[in-house]
Amino acid sequence: MPKLSDVINALDELYPPRWAESWDAVGLVCGDPDEQVRRVLFAVDPVQAVVEEAVAWGADLLVTHHPLYLRGTTSVAATSFKGRAVHTLIRAGIALHVAHTNADQAAPGVSDALAEAIGLTVLAPLVPDPSDPAGRRGIGRICQLPAPLPLAEFAAQVAAGLPATATGVRVSGDPKRPIHRVAVSGGSGDGFFAEVRAAGVDAYVTADLRHHPASEATEASAVALVDAAHWATEWPWLNLAARSLEAAAAEHGWELATRVSTLVTDPWTAHAPMPDAHSSMPDAQAQPSADAPSAG
Ligand SMILES: [Zn+2]
Repeated sequence: MPKLSDVINALDELYPPRWAESWDAVGLVCGDPDEQVRRVLFAVDPVQAVVEEAVAWGADLLVTHHPLYLRGTTSVAATSFKGRAVHTLIRAGIALHVAHTNADQAAPGVSDALAEAIGLTVLAPLVPDPSDPAGRRGIGRICQLPAPLPLAEFAAQVAAGLPATATGVRVSGDPKRPIHRVAVSGGSGDGFFAEVRAAGVDAYVTADLRHHPASEATEASAVALVDAAHWATEWPWLNLAARSLEAAAAEHGWELATRVSTLVTDPWTAHAPMPDAHSSMPDAQAQPSADAPSAG
């Protein structure tokens, strides 16, 4: 049976901490390196429901993509939700380890798993890591569909390939537009529009697209946008990470069980569709009268 330090070494080989962005906070958050590990739970978010799931399953290690503490803290008192998570974990003897932007950079990493889930073949990184002479690592991926699909069909394929969330998938572009080359970036991807345009792709699949970057991107080029829930775009990596750790465990002869959390921790919990999705404005009668004070 491996010790926590052995399992962390195996995870660090898959996702070296030095590949993380300088602002990131990856690695061991809590846990005793000398404790034995039999069960490892993988999840996107270190939220209380996931921590409770780890306790209920009898996990010894919880591996999450998102950090619990991205910035420093001076207290882990259980008076805050993060402190409560730390208390619940330590009381149950569960370690917490984070692989975030180092898992984005890895090949295979977060965007490779996303590409595979939505039926794409990876060609190259979208933002290559200059420290990788092989040119395989980096943020996001440039990919290709086996054959072009109309945007509406491609978006349906994306929705079907990802775990279900309340918000589903948002699309910008002509639904009939043929899509062949596609850029993907798991998680918040609105910082990479310049690279997306330079890649000459037909569509960009990512999450968290805000009004202004999305509006400017669609004005600047014909690239179609497919915006899924942040959690859903990163979730496929959990299976990849669990399989990779299992392979490492088999190599070392460790008895190790892994599990991927299926709890939907996307913060959006419901979606109210418009009564008629094609009518862009509410009835004029429902508008405030000219005398009504402006809401600004
Ligand atoms: Zn993320």
